[in-house]
Formats: sequence, C-alpha cells, structure tokens
Amino acid sequence: MFVSENLGVNEKGHLTVSGTDTVELAAEYGTPLYVMDEEMVRSNCSRFRDSMKKFYGEKGEVHYASKAFSCMEMCRIVASEGIGLDAVSIGELYTALKAGFPMEKIGFHGNNKTDAELEFAVDNGVGHIIVDNISELHRLEAIAAAKGKKPAIMFRIKPGIDAHTHDFVKTGQIDSKFGFALETGEAFDAVKEALSCENISLAGLHCHIGSQIFDIAPFEEAAKVMLGFIAKIKTELGYEVPGLNLGGGFGIKYMDKDDPQPFEVFLERVSAVVKSECEKLGLTQPFMYIEPGRSIAAPAGLTLYTVGARKEIPNIRTYISVDGGMADSPRYILYKSEYEAIVANKANEERTEKVTIAGKCCESGDLIGENMSLQHAESGDIIAVCATGAYNYSMSSNYNRLQKPAVVFVNKGTSRIAVKRETLDDIIRNDV
Ligand SMILES: *Cc1c(COP(=O)(O)O)cnc(C)c1O
Repeated sequence: MFVSENLGVNEKGHLTVSGTDTVELAAEYGTPLYVMDEEMVRSNCSRFRDSMKKFYGEKGEVHYASKAFSCMEMCRIVASEGIGLDAVSIGELYTALKAGFPMEKIGFHGNNKTDAELEFAVDNGVGHIIVDNISELHRLEAIAAAKGKKPAIMFRIKPGIDAHTHDFVKTGQIDSKFGFALETGEAFDAVKEALSCENISLAGLHCHIGSQIFDIAPFEEAAKVMLGFIAKIKTELGYEVPGLNLGGGFGIKYMDKDDPQPFEVFLERVSAVVKSECEKLGLTQPFMYIEPGRSIAAPAGLTLYTVGARKEIPNIRTYISVDGGMADSPRYILYKSEYEAIVANKANEERTEKVTIAGKCCESGDLIGENMSLQHAESGDIIAVCATGAYNYSMSSNYNRLQKPAVVFVNKGTSRIAVKRETLDDIIRNDV
C-alpha cells in the first residue's frame, strides 16, 4: 500500500512506522520531524554485510556513506552492525570519532581536502584516505613524513562509465571534478608516483559511478575496468594493488514505479564478475569494499509536517503548505526528486486529490513535490513524506533562519531523540 514496507495503518487509521503511531510522534516531538526506523537501518546494514560475506567471502567490507545521514547515534548503530564508514569532511570524521567509531574502518573521501583535514585523518588513524588528485598526494606525503606515519591510501579513479542517473549525481565520467582519469594516463602516472612515496602505502583503487542507479550492469562494467587497470599496473609496474572499492550509488524505491534490485542480487552479480575477471587476468581476489549511503538510510526515514494553509487556484492547482520545506527537504529544489506523501491521520482514506505540497520558505521553488497523489488535506493534518532518511537532514539548512527539526529513532513502538530540535538561541549562537 505504501512505498516503504515498514509503514502501516493502525486501528485509529493513523500511519505507523515500525509499529509506532506517526500522529502521536508529531504530537510528542512537534513538527517538522525526521523519523528514522532503527530496525530498518540495522537490517539494511546487516543485509549488505551478510551478502558481502556470502557472495564474496571474508575479504570484503561494507562502509556506510555517512554523508547520506550522519549523527552520533547513527554512527553508533552502524558500528554495532559491524560495518565501516565513509566520511567526506572533518565534521563527519569528528562525529564518528566522538561516537566512538573504530577509525580504522573509515574511508576518508573528498575532492578538496584541506591540510587540517588530512592531518586530522592521519592523527586519528583513519583506515584509508581516498586520494583524489596529485596535489593531495604530495600534501599527504609531506604530512605523513613530518609525523613519521605511513597512511594507507586508495586512488579515486574515473572509470569512464555512464550510469543512467541525474547529471548532478553522476560521477564516473571523464568530465567530473572527482578523481583521476584513466583514459588520459593521469591515473597510471599517479599510481607510479605513489609507489615511489616512502610515507604512503597504496592499498587500493576506488570508483563511485553515481547515485540512485537501478541497473547493476554499470557496476559490473566499472569492476571490469578497474580490474583491467589493476592488471595493467601489475604487468607494467610489478605491484598488485590489493584493494578494490566500488563505491555506492544503489537506487532505492521513492515511488511505486521505482524497482531497485535487492542488495543480495547486487552483491551476487558484482562478486561473480570480480571473481571471474580476477581468474581471467591472473589476479589475486582483491579486498573488496562497497559504500552504500542512500540505500541504507533513505528507506528507513520519513519526515512529518503539519498542514497550514490550503490554497485552491481553480483550474491551476491546489497548494498544501506545510511547516517545513526546502530547508529540511532540499532534494526537490536540487533535483526535482519525487516522494510519496500520506496524510498520516487519514492514512486509510482514499487518495482523492493531486496537489502541490509547498514549504514555508521565501522561494517559489520551495516545494516538497508537485502533482502528488494525496488524501484530502486540511489545516492541522499531519503529512508524512516517505523515504527521506538520506540527503534530507544531512543537506538541511537554516534558510530563512528556520530551526532544524529534531531527529527521532523509533524501534518497535518506542521512540527516542537522536538529534534535538534547534532552538531560537541556536539560531543566533554564533552571531556576535
Ligand atoms: C555519495 C557517495 C557514496 C554513497 O552514495 P549513495 O548513492 O548514497 O549510495 C559512496 N561513496 C562515495 C565516494 C560517495 O561520494
């Protein structure tokens, strides 16, 4: 009935998430409110972890891409599921560190890391630094030498794969700000140089071809290209790169029409390709990493809003305005992303209208979505927007000096705050 399988309707006709009444959550914690289903986060982590082991073996590791949704509680949950983490800034590293995350299971990404970020990563024993460009390699070598350390790195490679997804989230092609190009020889030269660095150990090659990708073929293709490169390095430079990181980007179901493959199928197919290519190329099976972000966090989340104004413009459209908007839900204004919405207190009623759900920010583009199929919504109703667990809270802002909503975790009928709602004093905290 709903896009996420953890949603249901209780005897009051209220929408439930993991058995918890969303209308009661809205009453208890206020709106807008981010709600995360702990059980689903855990099962998404463990499904990736277990299928990595089942289809690829012991030499595999899953890293949750924390940019999708990061807070200390999320880091603790991920750590307790025994998977690693990706971080793309000192802020994400610091969050993980403070949450007690095992730093050796972290990959540190970014196309423009500062010296302060590199030093922080080296000082705190981050597992891998994924080096994006040659000047970063030079800076890291100098930092490591000064500290008498030898960090393990991977190189971010652009494998030249065209994944069919939105242009803004496509990252594998040659015209991208991320990584070293294969075609031009840039990647090969970087590997050669890294092998001559005394204070760097080259542990792997990394690629990430994009996000919200449904097709498994581009991942298989990327694996083949990357293994071909590992074989070339072995032949020409006499060094077998031990690690292969295939990034994240697995698509999720935002709308009924979306049809992602189960994680298990993804890992089965990609593992098979990596193993058979290694055999063909005479390579040792590399240590394999994947980095799912959206697919772990997004389906586990939803956002609750209270309806304010209802504006019917005859023959044009009906606007339903809610108490949040682009500041807490920026993906519509960024990518025209689609979501399913439900009037939480009328969850068992028919969807009788097509409406535009609008936010409260001073931008006409501040919409949650257009042409959304919805139960008849009036002032005071609670609207739930589904599958908002990734790239919502993490991309939220204080635009219009709105306070960021709280994040609540639910688990089998219980709920707890993971991130407090910002107060008005938080809004002026750094003002002098
Ligand atoms: C964003 C990103 C991910 C996660 O992507 P999802 O689409 O959220 O799975 C993984 N690895 C890298 C390097 C990324 O930039």
